[in-house]
Amino acid sequence: MTLDIVEAKDLCNINPVFGNFSFDKHEQIVFCNDEATGLKAIIGIHNTTLGPALGGTRMWNYKNEEDALQDVLRLSRGMTYKAAITGLKLGGGKAVIIGDAKTQKTDDLMRRFGEFVHSLGGKYITAEDVGMETRDMDIVRDITPYVTGISEARGGAGNPSPITAYGVFMGMKAAAKYQFGTDNLKGKKILIQGIGHVGETIVDLATKEGAQIIINDINKEQLEYVSKKYGATIHHDLDIYGLDVDIYAPCALGATINDNTIDRIKAKVIAGAANNQLQDEIKHGRLLKEKGIAYAPDFLINAGGIINVYAEIEGYGKDEIIRQTENIYNTTLEIFKLSETQNITTHRAAFNIAQARIDAKKN
Ligand code: NAD
Repeated sequence: MTLDIVEAKDLCNINPVFGNFSFDKHEQIVFCNDEATGLKAIIGIHNTTLGPALGGTRMWNYKNEEDALQDVLRLSRGMTYKAAITGLKLGGGKAVIIGDAKTQKTDDLMRRFGEFVHSLGGKYITAEDVGMETRDMDIVRDITPYVTGISEARGGAGNPSPITAYGVFMGMKAAAKYQFGTDNLKGKKILIQGIGHVGETIVDLATKEGAQIIINDINKEQLEYVSKKYGATIHHDLDIYGLDVDIYAPCALGATINDNTIDRIKAKVIAGAANNQLQDEIKHGRLLKEKGIAYAPDFLINAGGIINVYAEIEGYGKDEIIRQTENIYNTTLEIFKLSETQNITTHRAAFNIAQARIDAKKN
């Protein structure tokens, strides 16, 4: 079989890394294996032009290695653009550990992971992501300085979720200003999908401003708790896309804007915390624009968490964290204007600014 007659799917089988669908000029991909602790991890370093590659570690029971590799490639690339659009001197990276965080995560495994991170000499800096807790980062900190998201007791910036929520709220207000002419959310119907660490704080902030909140989650106890605490209306059915709301805030999982949902979305603004909300950045970004829906790019408005951990590296305090997070409002407005004047999607507008910053540093 010669290479030129190999079909694309076979190419991916033969070249699973550099030929991977999600490979995008990544600088370095590190496969970590330790028999004694059962650690199987992949560290993806997408781009270090602006600084060390920072991004969380996700522990997840991936169906197979291909899924884990895809995830780390996609997520590390996303971190490059998130840091660049936010104006941070950071590159993009991410790590995944293959396994069940509830049953397979041990202190020894985390220490061994810390050794792999340390071996990269600071090119990659880790943090918390799904399946990780502050305590795990504290264990990694015993091994290497190249970790953020450690406990406040050890000099860390603490839980990033409230700051992430505040940034999303700023992005939501900017999108409302662009779409409705006012950033006051009083009376606006807001659907929040996923009321976990970030979503609940958004419920709190929007309720204080007088918005009407509809909440949706797979966790029934959390729904009852949040509904009682903030007076939010519960929508039990997970199929939420046809709801008649002003704003849709995806705060649970990615790819909820896809071929099956996009035609039914009635919201005029989409602004939420979830990463990779558009299943296809180009196609679905364009369809949203055609439908006149103001989409606040996820990697721009959910950057509060990275701002929070960056503060640990730079050593600045809460006031500066808040100032930078509030600036998400201005950047989001700027992106909407660019999208209009250049007739491009908001996702593309944000991406172009981020790419220009990387290119300027390279040249
Ligand atoms: P979380 O796990 O605390 O909350 C997610 C919530 O979504 C949970 O309550 C879960 O039950 C719910 N959920 C899961 N599947 C669902 C479904 N199909 N329909 C409805 N609800 C569902 O996570 P989080 O920290 O609040 O983060 C929310 C999102 O924002 C995630 O996608 C995360 O990657 C992203 N994000 C978080 C941060 C941060 O600082 N925490 C930063 C950037 C991006």
